Parts: sequence; structure tokens; C-alpha cells
Amino acid sequence: MELFEDFKINNQLQYGIEDLGFKKPTPIQSKSFPVIMSGKDVVGIAQTGTGKTFAYMLPILQNLKYSEQKHPRVLVMVPTRELVIQVEQEINKFAKYLNLRVAAVYGGVNMNTHHQLVAQGCDIVVATPGRLYDLTLSRALQLKQIKQLVIDEVDVMLDLGFRFQLTNILEILPPRRQNIMFSATMTEDVNLFIQDFFKSPTTISVAVSGTPLENIDQVCYAVPNFYTKVNLLLDLLKDKDTFQKVLVFVPNKKSADLVFNLLEERFSYEVAVIHSNKTQNYRLRSIENFNKEKTRVLVTSDVMSRGLDLHKITHVINFDTPRYPENYMHRIGRTGRAEEQGSSILLYTEKEREAKEAIEELMGTSIKELEMPEQVEISKQLTPEERPREKEIDNPTKIKDEDAPGPAFHEKKEKNRKENLGGSYRRKLEKKYKKPKTRGDKNYNKRNKNK
Ligand code: AMP
Repeated sequence: MELFEDFKINNQLQYGIEDLGFKKPTPIQSKSFPVIMSGKDVVGIAQTGTGKTFAYMLPILQNLKYSEQKHPRVLVMVPTRELVIQVEQEINKFAKYLNLRVAAVYGGVNMNTHHQLVAQGCDIVVATPGRLYDLTLSRALQLKQIKQLVIDEVDVMLDLGFRFQLTNILEILPPRRQNIMFSATMTEDVNLFIQDFFKSPTTISVAVSGTPLENIDQVCYAVPNFYTKVNLLLDLLKDKDTFQKVLVFVPNKKSADLVFNLLEERFSYEVAVIHSNKTQNYRLRSIENFNKEKTRVLVTSDVMSRGLDLHKITHVINFDTPRYPENYMHRIGRTGRAEEQGSSILLYTEKEREAKEAIEELMGTSIKELEMPEQVEISKQLTPEERPREKEIDNPTKIKDEDAPGPAFHEKKEKNRKENLGGSYRRKLEKKYKKPKTRGDKNYNKRNKNK
């Protein structure tokens, strides 16, 4: 289906789309529409930027008849609070001519506020799994009318350890429903999840990155260590005319804080950071400031940023080299969107060379390597992880093999492998006399005989 008209959607939706100025459906929208309309279970492989939110919302809204009933009929679950807000905004954007009630619920907000919100009745609930489950436990929200379930960003959801909450919710949903799932990547966890809960789903997928690779100018630098990477970053970011809106990817919260603090010393309010240990308000403010171009540089980890719709990023800087090449594709897909040219810079240490090569193999192209600018100081300072492990001489108790399993993870010794069946004395007697000898055994047999 090449045009929105081909979808034969109702006028209200059509007007909404026209107002938004969308010319034609994106590939994931074209592929999803007929399948979701058919009522089958669907697994969509697509990441943010591909138009996936409308890909599932469009057919859902087309099917959703006006109703005044209290209980929601559509449930959309997403991993983070930011995404709840974003999805709610997306729905309201193009459903403005529909009479639709959307309730957005997520953790960190007073429970009473959400009790009052859902008590008013709603058609669609957009939620994080934890808060949703709490609301159903307290009976504020009933899910017995749910006809369609969407789980978005399942890979992130499982990464964040939400499987338990998801399973709990799936178990209380009515069995006759349509399951729709979107994930940026297929992982073993995602696959198992689908097998457990989906009925022969149809899989729809679009290219790994929503952005064509030709739109992104990719370069890399070989950098000896963490602090030299920081020096290089400081040097690059000096050029404010070129580096107008920059997303800096770091591997985890700890590096996020460290890199942020070092950048902040130089660039103060031009820099912001988001990761899961920051309060919700802090994160929302950081994203808003970045989108409004109040801040120029946003430091983030993969999981936190995935799914967020950030506009017009001029540069993606990969402070580390992702171990999974797909994550690199997700990262660089944040720039060069909507037919604009974007830039990606990868910083890699010798240890990360292999990961860089895996990325190049996946893309079928190599990343142009640039010389370190002369003015960038090569730091001698090492992080605790980078420091060579000190060898202990004359420590007779030290295990020689570095890979030897630690105390909490070792094979059981032979004598501990035996299963403890209890009553060893009784078993020994039984074996010897071939019949029960102790009083307990005799009584047990007597009781069983009388049954
Ligand atoms: P998503 O992948 O759902 O996060 O969407 C990414 C962005 O693309 C959002 O800002 C949408 O408003 C926008 N978008 C969605 N569908 C279309 C379309 N058919 N044409 C142009 N932009 C779109």
C-alpha cells in the first residue's frame, strides 16, 4: 500500500494525518496495516524513527468504535515513563478529530492521581507494566474488556527485567485478544517471550535502521583510553557551529555520570544527561531542553535513549563501541533522519577493535578512520577497569588460572552432588533387611494398607 488512501481509513483519521502533513505511509506502516486489521497476532521488528507508533495505532484507531464504557479496550505497554508520555502524545496528535479517551499511567506519580484518572473511564491505556499491575491489584483498573494488546520495545522491556510484571498482566487479560508486539531487535529473550504468549504471529520487519546509511557520514578514531576519549570529545565539541545537536552514547550509568561531569566542567548548561538512576522529572527536563535546543549535548546510555523521539540530531558520538553491532545501528539511526545528512563518530580502543570490525561486517562497509587531532592530549590516566591487574607474588592461596570460577560459582564437589533424600539411617536398614524396620516406616505402611 503506497498511499494512506489505500488504507481506506475513516475521515477523522484522514484529517488528522493531513493536519500532520504526512504524505505517505512509511514501510512499516504499509506492512502493518493490513495484518493488524486482519486481527492476527503480530510481531513487528522496527525501531523508533520508522513510524512504528502510527503503524500500530492507525489500524487500532480505525477499528475502535466510539463508546462510553468505563473499561479500556486497548492496552499499550512500554518500558519507560518517557515513552508512555511520548506514545500518548502521538496518539492524541492524529486522533484529534476522534472522540477518544487515552489514559497514560506510569510509576513515580502519586497512585491517587492515577486512580482518579482511570475512574473517569478510558478507551486506551498507555502504561509501564509496574504501575499498570498495581492499578489492577487495587481494582482501580479492570482489564476484562481488553481486545488488543500492544507491547512496544519488548527488547528493552525484557532488558530492564520486566518479564515478571509482563507475565502477570498477560495472565489477567481476557484470552480472546489480539497481541501486537514491536521490538527493535530479535533477541533470544524476545523469541522465548513470543513463543510463550503469541498465537502463530505474523512477523513484519523493516531494515535495521530507519535511516538509510547513505544519509550518515561515519568516521572513527582509534583512541588509547577512556580519558583520552574525554579529551577528544572536549576538543570536538568546542566547534559549536558544527556540533549543534549531539547525542553522546556511553555504555552504562557510571560512565554516563563521569562523562557528563567532565563535559559539564567545560560546557556547563550546554550539556545534559539521562539514565535510569536520574529522577523522572530530571530526565523529562533533560529531554525537553534538548529537543528545544536549550542544551546542545545529551549524554545517554542505549536503553534509556531507545524509543525516544529526538529530533534533528546533527551528530551521534559513540563514546564506546557497542558489543552488539545492531546497537550501533540503532545509535547512528538517531541522526540523518528525514532525508537530512547526519554524522556519526565512533571512538574505539584497541580492546574494542573487534567490536568495530563486527559493525563493519554487518554494514558491509568500513568506517573511515581519522587521525587524532594533534592538539588532543593523550592521557596517561587510566580507569580502574583499564589498569593492568597487579600480580600478587608469593600468595600461595591465589588461584593461578584467572578464569577459575569464583567462590559463588563452581561445580559441586562429588560428595555434594548426591541428592539429600533424608532418613539415611532408615534407608540403610531398608537396604540391609529389604523391608522397613523403624517404627515410623511400619506405621506408614500400616496406614497405607488400610487405605
Ligand atoms: P516513531 O517511529 O513512531 O517513533 O515515529 C517517528 C516520527 O516519525 C514521529 O515523530 C512521527 O510523528 C513521524 N511519522 C510517523 N509516520 C510518518 C509518516 N507516514 N510520514 C512522516 N512522518 C511520520
